[in-house]
Amino acid sequence: MITAERIVRLGSETAFAVSEEARAFAAAGNRVYPFHLGDMDLPTPENIIHAAHRAMRDGKTGYAPNAGIPELRDALAADINRSRGTHYTADSVAVQPGGKPVIGKFILALMNPGDEVLYPNPGYPIYESQIEFHGGRGLPYGFLPGKENFHLDMDALRRQVSPRTKLLIVNDLQNPTGAVSPDEELEQIAEFALRHDLRVLCDEAYFDIRYRGRSRSLASFPGMEERCVILYTFSKKYAMTGWRLGAAVGPRQIIGVIAKLNLNDESCTNHFVQIAGVEALTGDQSGSRRIIDVLKERRDAAAEILRAIPGVSCYVPEATFYLYPDVTGLMEAKGFSDYESFRKDVLRKTGVSFCTRLHFGKALPGETRRHLRLAYSGIGVEDIREGLLKFAAYAQG
Ligand code: PLP
Repeated sequence: MITAERIVRLGSETAFAVSEEARAFAAAGNRVYPFHLGDMDLPTPENIIHAAHRAMRDGKTGYAPNAGIPELRDALAADINRSRGTHYTADSVAVQPGGKPVIGKFILALMNPGDEVLYPNPGYPIYESQIEFHGGRGLPYGFLPGKENFHLDMDALRRQVSPRTKLLIVNDLQNPTGAVSPDEELEQIAEFALRHDLRVLCDEAYFDIRYRGRSRSLASFPGMEERCVILYTFSKKYAMTGWRLGAAVGPRQIIGVIAKLNLNDESCTNHFVQIAGVEALTGDQSGSRRIIDVLKERRDAAAEILRAIPGVSCYVPEATFYLYPDVTGLMEAKGFSDYESFRKDVLRKTGVSFCTRLHFGKALPGETRRHLRLAYSGIGVEDIREGLLKFAAYAQG
Protein backbone atom coordinates (compact mmCIF):
# COMPACT_ATOMS: atom_id res chain seq x y z
CA MET A 1 0.00 0.00 0.00
CA ILE A 2 1.53 3.35 -0.96
CA THR A 3 -1.17 5.56 0.55
CA ALA A 4 -1.11 6.94 4.11
CA GLU A 5 -2.51 4.78 6.91
CA ARG A 6 -5.35 7.21 7.59
CA ILE A 7 -6.83 6.56 4.16
CA VAL A 8 -8.22 3.20 5.30
CA ARG A 9 -10.38 5.14 7.78
CA LEU A 10 -11.89 7.41 5.14
CA GLY A 11 -15.52 6.48 4.50
CA SER A 12 -17.76 7.18 1.56
CA GLU A 13 -21.25 8.19 0.51
CA THR A 14 -22.55 4.95 -0.93
CA ALA A 15 -25.72 6.62 -2.27
CA PHE A 16 -23.51 7.73 -5.17
CA ALA A 17 -22.83 4.04 -5.98
CA VAL A 18 -26.59 3.37 -6.11
CA SER A 19 -26.88 6.33 -8.44
CA GLU A 20 -24.19 4.87 -10.70
CA GLU A 21 -25.95 1.48 -10.72
CA ALA A 22 -29.24 3.13 -11.67
CA ARG A 23 -27.51 5.11 -14.42
CA ALA A 24 -26.02 1.91 -15.90
CA PHE A 25 -29.43 0.18 -15.69
CA ALA A 26 -31.03 3.11 -17.55
CA ALA A 27 -28.22 3.16 -20.13
CA ALA A 28 -29.05 -0.48 -20.89
CA GLY A 29 -32.48 0.72 -22.06
CA ASN A 30 -34.49 0.31 -18.86
CA ARG A 31 -36.89 2.80 -17.32
CA VAL A 32 -35.57 4.09 -13.97
CA TYR A 33 -37.48 5.98 -11.28
CA PRO A 34 -34.76 7.83 -9.33
CA PHE A 35 -35.52 8.01 -5.61
CA HIS A 36 -31.92 7.38 -4.57
CA LEU A 37 -30.04 10.68 -4.38
CA GLY A 38 -30.89 13.90 -2.56
CA ASP A 39 -30.11 15.86 -5.72
CA MET A 40 -32.72 18.14 -7.28
CA ASP A 41 -34.22 18.17 -10.76
CA LEU A 42 -35.68 21.65 -10.21
CA PRO A 43 -34.02 24.68 -11.81
CA THR A 44 -32.24 27.31 -9.74
CA PRO A 45 -34.47 30.45 -9.66
CA GLU A 46 -33.85 32.77 -12.64
CA ASN A 47 -32.85 35.83 -10.59
CA ILE A 48 -29.95 33.85 -9.08
CA ILE A 49 -28.78 32.64 -12.48
CA HIS A 50 -28.88 36.21 -13.84
CA ALA A 51 -26.87 37.49 -10.89
CA ALA A 52 -24.14 34.89 -11.59
CA HIS A 53 -24.04 35.82 -15.30
CA ARG A 54 -23.82 39.50 -14.46
CA ALA A 55 -21.04 38.89 -11.95
CA MET A 56 -19.02 36.88 -14.48
CA ARG A 57 -19.38 39.67 -17.03
CA ASP A 58 -18.41 42.22 -14.38
CA GLY A 59 -15.12 40.41 -13.94
CA LYS A 60 -15.87 38.71 -10.61
CA THR A 61 -13.71 35.84 -11.77
CA GLY A 62 -10.64 36.26 -9.58
CA TYR A 63 -9.83 35.13 -6.05
CA ALA A 64 -12.11 36.26 -3.25
CA PRO A 65 -11.34 36.60 0.49
CA ASN A 66 -10.80 33.20 2.20
CA ALA A 67 -13.82 33.55 4.48
CA GLY A 68 -16.05 34.91 1.73
CA ILE A 69 -16.97 38.31 0.27
CA PRO A 70 -18.18 40.81 2.92
CA GLU A 71 -21.59 41.28 1.20
CA LEU A 72 -22.35 37.56 1.44
CA ARG A 73 -21.08 37.23 5.02
CA ASP A 74 -23.28 40.20 5.98
CA ALA A 75 -26.31 38.83 4.14
CA LEU A 76 -25.89 35.39 5.72
CA ALA A 77 -25.53 36.79 9.25
CA ALA A 78 -28.65 38.93 8.73
CA ASP A 79 -30.68 36.09 7.21
CA ILE A 80 -29.72 33.61 9.92
CA ASN A 81 -30.41 36.12 12.70
CA ARG A 82 -33.84 36.79 11.21
CA SER A 83 -34.80 33.14 10.86
CA ARG A 84 -33.12 31.83 14.02
CA GLY A 85 -33.19 34.74 16.47
CA THR A 86 -29.39 34.68 16.84
CA HIS A 87 -26.88 37.55 17.05
CA TYR A 88 -24.25 36.78 14.44
CA THR A 89 -22.11 39.33 12.61
CA ALA A 90 -20.21 39.01 9.33
CA ASP A 91 -17.15 37.64 11.16
CA SER A 92 -19.27 34.77 12.54
CA VAL A 93 -19.55 33.47 8.95
CA ALA A 94 -17.04 31.51 6.83
CA VAL A 95 -18.39 30.91 3.33
CA GLN A 96 -17.73 27.39 1.98
CA PRO A 97 -18.00 25.56 -1.33
CA GLY A 98 -21.17 23.75 -0.14
CA GLY A 99 -22.50 22.72 3.23
CA LYS A 100 -20.61 19.43 3.27
CA PRO A 101 -17.13 20.98 3.82
CA VAL A 102 -18.36 22.39 7.15
CA ILE A 103 -18.46 18.84 8.57
CA GLY A 104 -14.78 18.01 8.08
CA LYS A 105 -13.64 21.52 9.01
CA PHE A 106 -15.69 21.54 12.24
CA ILE A 107 -14.12 18.21 13.22
CA LEU A 108 -10.60 19.28 12.24
CA ALA A 109 -10.95 22.54 14.15
CA LEU A 110 -12.32 21.04 17.39
CA MET A 111 -11.57 17.31 17.71
CA ASN A 112 -8.27 15.82 18.87
CA PRO A 113 -7.41 12.21 17.98
CA GLY A 114 -9.04 9.94 20.57
CA ASP A 115 -11.86 12.39 21.34
CA GLU A 116 -15.40 11.05 21.19
CA VAL A 117 -18.12 12.49 18.99
CA LEU A 118 -21.84 11.74 19.25
CA TYR A 119 -23.43 11.55 15.80
CA PRO A 120 -26.74 10.39 14.29
CA ASN A 121 -27.06 6.90 12.81
CA PRO A 122 -28.97 6.45 10.56
CA GLY A 123 -27.49 9.72 9.35
CA TYR A 124 -25.52 11.52 6.70
CA PRO A 125 -22.53 9.16 6.24
CA ILE A 126 -19.92 11.91 6.06
CA TYR A 127 -20.05 12.48 9.85
CA GLU A 128 -18.74 9.00 10.63
CA SER A 129 -16.25 9.14 7.77
CA GLN A 130 -14.72 12.44 8.94
CA ILE A 131 -14.69 11.50 12.64
CA GLU A 132 -12.81 8.27 11.94
CA PHE A 133 -10.54 9.76 9.28
CA HIS A 134 -9.27 12.34 11.76
CA GLY A 135 -8.72 9.74 14.49
CA GLY A 136 -11.80 10.34 16.64
CA ARG A 137 -14.18 7.81 18.11
CA GLY A 138 -17.75 7.98 16.85
CA LEU A 139 -20.63 7.30 19.25
CA PRO A 140 -23.75 6.69 17.16
CA TYR A 141 -27.22 7.55 18.45
CA GLY A 142 -30.45 6.58 16.71
CA PHE A 143 -34.10 7.59 16.33
CA LEU A 144 -37.19 5.95 17.77
CA PRO A 145 -40.62 5.65 16.18
CA GLY A 146 -43.17 8.03 17.70
CA LYS A 147 -46.82 8.80 17.03
CA GLU A 148 -46.38 11.04 14.01
CA ASN A 149 -42.67 10.86 13.28
CA PHE A 150 -39.34 9.56 14.55
CA HIS A 151 -37.75 11.25 17.53
CA LEU A 152 -34.18 11.42 18.66
CA ASP A 153 -33.12 8.73 21.15
CA MET A 154 -32.09 10.97 24.08
CA ASP A 155 -31.28 7.91 26.20
CA ALA A 156 -28.66 6.84 23.66
CA LEU A 157 -26.97 10.24 24.12
CA ARG A 158 -27.09 9.99 27.90
CA ARG A 159 -25.90 6.37 27.97
CA GLN A 160 -22.82 6.96 25.86
CA VAL A 161 -21.50 10.38 26.88
CA SER A 162 -18.24 10.32 28.86
CA PRO A 163 -15.57 12.81 29.93
CA ARG A 164 -13.82 12.04 26.61
CA THR A 165 -16.86 13.20 24.58
CA LYS A 166 -16.08 16.60 23.05
CA LEU A 167 -18.51 17.05 20.19
CA LEU A 168 -22.14 16.45 19.35
CA ILE A 169 -23.50 16.42 15.81
CA VAL A 170 -27.21 17.19 15.45
CA ASN A 171 -29.09 17.15 12.17
CA ASP A 172 -32.56 18.39 13.03
CA LEU A 173 -34.93 18.01 10.05
CA GLN A 174 -33.02 14.84 9.52
CA ASN A 175 -31.66 12.94 6.57
CA PRO A 176 -32.71 10.13 6.16
CA THR A 177 -35.57 9.76 8.68
CA GLY A 178 -37.27 13.15 8.22
CA ALA A 179 -37.29 13.47 12.04
CA VAL A 180 -38.03 16.96 13.32
CA SER A 181 -37.29 17.74 16.98
CA PRO A 182 -40.12 19.53 18.77
CA ASP A 183 -39.04 22.47 20.97
CA GLU A 184 -38.98 20.32 24.13
CA GLU A 185 -36.58 17.87 22.50
CA LEU A 186 -34.30 20.70 21.32
CA GLU A 187 -34.36 22.05 24.86
CA GLN A 188 -33.25 18.67 26.22
CA ILE A 189 -30.44 18.48 23.66
CA ALA A 190 -29.30 22.00 24.58
CA GLU A 191 -29.30 21.14 28.31
CA PHE A 192 -27.35 17.97 27.56
CA ALA A 193 -24.73 19.87 25.53
CA LEU A 194 -24.34 22.49 28.27
CA ARG A 195 -24.12 19.91 31.06
CA HIS A 196 -21.39 17.96 29.27
CA ASP A 197 -19.62 21.01 27.84
CA LEU A 198 -19.97 19.81 24.23
CA ARG A 199 -19.41 21.85 21.09
CA VAL A 200 -22.21 21.19 18.62
CA LEU A 201 -22.41 20.96 14.86
CA CYS A 202 -25.98 21.92 13.91
CA ASP A 203 -26.42 20.53 10.43
CA GLU A 204 -29.29 22.71 9.22
CA ALA A 205 -29.17 21.63 5.57
CA TYR A 206 -33.00 21.22 5.54
CA PHE A 207 -33.92 24.11 7.88
CA ASP A 208 -36.01 25.78 5.15
CA ILE A 209 -37.35 22.63 3.48
CA ARG A 210 -40.42 22.71 5.65
CA TYR A 211 -44.10 22.26 4.71
CA ARG A 212 -45.80 22.96 8.03
CA GLY A 213 -44.73 24.74 11.22
CA ARG A 214 -41.49 26.68 11.75
CA SER A 215 -37.95 25.41 12.16
CA ARG A 216 -36.03 26.34 15.28
CA SER A 217 -32.26 26.28 15.61
CA LEU A 218 -30.48 24.69 18.55
CA ALA A 219 -28.24 27.78 18.43
CA SER A 220 -31.19 29.93 19.55
CA PHE A 221 -31.44 28.27 23.00
CA PRO A 222 -29.82 30.06 25.97
CA GLY A 223 -26.06 29.51 26.11
CA MET A 224 -25.97 27.64 22.80
CA GLU A 225 -24.90 30.32 20.32
CA GLU A 226 -21.46 30.22 21.96
CA ARG A 227 -21.06 26.48 21.40
CA CYS A 228 -22.85 25.76 18.10
CA VAL A 229 -21.55 25.90 14.56
CA ILE A 230 -24.37 25.98 12.02
CA LEU A 231 -23.95 24.19 8.70
CA TYR A 232 -25.80 26.42 6.22
CA THR A 233 -26.34 25.49 2.59
CA PHE A 234 -27.90 27.08 -0.51
CA SER A 235 -28.19 23.61 -2.10
CA LYS A 236 -31.71 22.68 -1.12
CA LYS A 237 -33.61 25.90 -0.47
CA TYR A 238 -32.58 27.43 -3.80
CA ALA A 239 -32.04 24.21 -5.81
CA MET A 240 -28.32 24.98 -6.09
CA THR A 241 -26.75 21.58 -5.32
CA GLY A 242 -24.18 21.80 -8.12
CA TRP A 243 -23.21 25.43 -7.51
CA ARG A 244 -21.45 24.42 -4.29
CA LEU A 245 -22.29 27.22 -1.90
CA GLY A 246 -22.71 27.06 1.87
CA ALA A 247 -21.29 28.44 5.09
CA ALA A 248 -20.11 27.70 8.60
CA VAL A 249 -21.72 30.09 11.08
CA GLY A 250 -20.69 30.26 14.73
CA PRO A 251 -18.37 31.70 17.39
CA ARG A 252 -15.77 34.04 15.84
CA GLN A 253 -12.77 32.15 17.16
CA ILE A 254 -13.90 28.84 15.63
CA ILE A 255 -14.91 30.58 12.40
CA GLY A 256 -11.42 32.13 12.23
CA VAL A 257 -9.90 28.63 12.35
CA ILE A 258 -12.34 27.36 9.73
CA ALA A 259 -11.44 30.28 7.44
CA LYS A 260 -7.76 29.37 7.88
CA LEU A 261 -8.65 25.84 6.75
CA ASN A 262 -10.31 27.47 3.71
CA LEU A 263 -7.09 29.35 3.02
CA ASN A 264 -5.17 26.05 3.13
CA ASP A 265 -7.67 23.96 1.18
CA GLU A 266 -9.50 25.88 -1.53
CA SER A 267 -8.31 29.51 -1.05
CA CYS A 268 -11.85 30.74 -1.47
CA THR A 269 -15.30 29.84 -2.71
CA ASN A 270 -15.95 30.76 -6.35
CA HIS A 271 -16.39 34.55 -6.51
CA PHE A 272 -19.34 34.91 -8.90
CA VAL A 273 -21.19 32.09 -7.14
CA GLN A 274 -20.94 34.10 -3.91
CA ILE A 275 -22.48 37.11 -5.66
CA ALA A 276 -25.32 34.89 -6.84
CA GLY A 277 -25.67 33.83 -3.19
CA VAL A 278 -26.24 37.46 -2.15
CA GLU A 279 -29.06 37.66 -4.72
CA ALA A 280 -30.49 34.35 -3.43
CA LEU A 281 -30.70 35.75 0.11
CA THR A 282 -31.71 39.33 -0.56
CA GLY A 283 -33.62 39.11 -3.88
CA ASP A 284 -37.05 37.81 -4.88
CA GLN A 285 -37.95 34.71 -2.82
CA SER A 286 -40.78 33.45 -5.02
CA GLY A 287 -38.52 30.88 -6.72
CA SER A 288 -37.66 29.30 -3.40
CA ARG A 289 -41.34 29.26 -2.35
CA ARG A 290 -42.24 27.48 -5.60
CA ILE A 291 -39.61 24.83 -4.89
CA ILE A 292 -41.27 24.09 -1.53
CA ASP A 293 -44.74 23.88 -3.16
CA VAL A 294 -43.48 21.40 -5.76
CA LEU A 295 -41.73 19.28 -3.13
CA LYS A 296 -44.85 19.18 -0.95
CA GLU A 297 -46.96 17.92 -3.84
CA ARG A 298 -44.37 15.19 -4.48
CA ARG A 299 -44.26 14.20 -0.82
CA ASP A 300 -48.03 13.79 -0.69
CA ALA A 301 -48.15 11.76 -3.91
CA ALA A 302 -45.36 9.42 -2.78
CA ALA A 303 -46.62 8.98 0.79
CA GLU A 304 -50.17 8.21 -0.32
CA ILE A 305 -49.07 5.26 -2.47
CA LEU A 306 -46.47 3.93 -0.03
CA ARG A 307 -48.83 4.03 2.94
CA ALA A 308 -51.37 1.87 1.10
CA ILE A 309 -48.90 -0.99 0.48
CA PRO A 310 -49.35 -3.98 2.82
CA GLY A 311 -46.22 -4.55 4.94
CA VAL A 312 -45.15 -0.90 4.61
CA SER A 313 -45.67 1.90 7.12
CA CYS A 314 -44.51 5.42 6.56
CA TYR A 315 -44.65 8.73 8.41
CA VAL A 316 -45.32 11.89 6.42
CA PRO A 317 -42.63 14.27 7.74
CA GLU A 318 -43.35 18.01 7.66
CA ALA A 319 -39.78 18.69 6.54
CA THR A 320 -36.89 17.48 4.31
CA PHE A 321 -37.50 15.76 0.99
CA TYR A 322 -37.16 12.19 2.23
CA LEU A 323 -39.48 9.39 3.20
CA TYR A 324 -38.16 6.61 5.42
CA PRO A 325 -40.74 3.81 5.22
CA ASP A 326 -40.57 0.75 7.45
CA VAL A 327 -40.62 -2.21 5.05
CA THR A 328 -39.98 -5.03 7.56
CA GLY A 329 -43.26 -6.78 6.72
CA LEU A 330 -42.81 -6.39 2.98
CA MET A 331 -39.26 -7.73 2.96
CA GLU A 332 -40.38 -10.73 5.01
CA ALA A 333 -43.34 -11.37 2.73
CA LYS A 334 -41.05 -11.27 -0.32
CA GLY A 335 -38.53 -13.58 1.36
CA PHE A 336 -35.63 -11.13 1.68
CA SER A 337 -33.40 -10.96 4.72
CA ASP A 338 -30.74 -8.63 3.34
CA TYR A 339 -31.17 -5.12 2.06
CA GLU A 340 -28.97 -5.26 -0.99
CA SER A 341 -30.71 -8.24 -2.63
CA PHE A 342 -34.08 -6.61 -1.99
CA ARG A 343 -32.95 -3.26 -3.42
CA LYS A 344 -31.50 -4.87 -6.54
CA ASP A 345 -34.59 -7.06 -7.06
CA VAL A 346 -36.88 -4.01 -6.92
CA LEU A 347 -34.64 -2.09 -9.32
CA ARG A 348 -34.52 -4.98 -11.79
CA LYS A 349 -38.24 -5.70 -11.70
CA THR A 350 -39.72 -2.21 -11.41
CA GLY A 351 -36.99 0.34 -12.19
CA VAL A 352 -37.58 1.98 -8.80
CA SER A 353 -34.21 2.98 -7.37
CA PHE A 354 -33.77 3.91 -3.71
CA CYS A 355 -31.29 3.77 -0.85
CA THR A 356 -31.73 1.59 2.19
CA ARG A 357 -30.87 2.06 5.85
CA LEU A 358 -27.42 0.56 5.06
CA HIS A 359 -26.43 3.69 3.13
CA PHE A 360 -26.74 5.73 6.34
CA GLY A 361 -24.51 3.73 8.70
CA LYS A 362 -24.24 0.29 10.23
CA ALA A 363 -27.38 -1.02 11.96
CA LEU A 364 -27.31 -0.30 15.71
CA PRO A 365 -27.30 -3.17 18.26
CA GLY A 366 -30.85 -4.44 18.74
CA GLU A 367 -32.14 -2.76 15.58
CA THR A 368 -34.60 -5.14 13.92
CA ARG A 369 -36.88 -3.01 11.75
CA ARG A 370 -36.00 -2.50 8.07
CA HIS A 371 -36.20 0.86 6.33
CA LEU A 372 -35.74 2.37 2.90
CA ARG A 373 -34.99 5.98 2.10
CA LEU A 374 -36.83 7.53 -0.80
CA ALA A 375 -35.76 11.00 -1.93
CA TYR A 376 -38.39 12.84 -3.97
CA SER A 377 -36.24 15.85 -4.86
CA GLY A 378 -35.16 14.49 -8.23
CA ILE A 379 -38.37 13.00 -9.65
CA GLY A 380 -41.62 14.63 -10.80
CA VAL A 381 -45.12 13.80 -9.55
CA GLU A 382 -46.11 11.80 -12.66
CA ASP A 383 -43.04 9.58 -12.40
CA ILE A 384 -43.45 9.25 -8.64
CA ARG A 385 -46.95 7.85 -9.22
CA GLU A 386 -45.93 5.62 -12.12
CA GLY A 387 -42.87 4.24 -10.31
CA LEU A 388 -44.46 3.70 -6.92
CA LEU A 389 -47.53 2.06 -8.43
CA LYS A 390 -45.15 -0.43 -10.07
CA PHE A 391 -43.51 -0.90 -6.67
CA ALA A 392 -46.95 -1.45 -5.10
CA ALA A 393 -47.80 -4.06 -7.74
CA TYR A 394 -44.44 -5.79 -7.13
CA ALA A 395 -45.15 -5.76 -3.38
CA GLN A 396 -48.50 -7.41 -3.86
CA GLY A 397 -47.43 -9.79 -6.61
N1 PLP B 1 -26.00 17.66 5.48
C1 PLP B 1 -26.99 16.82 5.15
C2 PLP B 1 -27.78 16.21 6.23
C3 PLP B 1 -27.24 16.52 3.82
O1 PLP B 1 -28.22 15.65 3.52
C4 PLP B 1 -26.46 17.13 2.82
C5 PLP B 1 -26.67 16.80 1.39
O2 PLP B 1 -27.42 15.96 1.00
C6 PLP B 1 -25.45 18.02 3.21
C7 PLP B 1 -25.25 18.26 4.55
C8 PLP B 1 -24.54 18.69 2.26
O3 PLP B 1 -25.11 19.30 1.19
P1 PLP B 1 -24.31 20.37 0.34
O4 PLP B 1 -22.84 20.05 0.44
O5 PLP B 1 -24.82 20.24 -1.04
O6 PLP B 1 -24.60 21.68 0.95
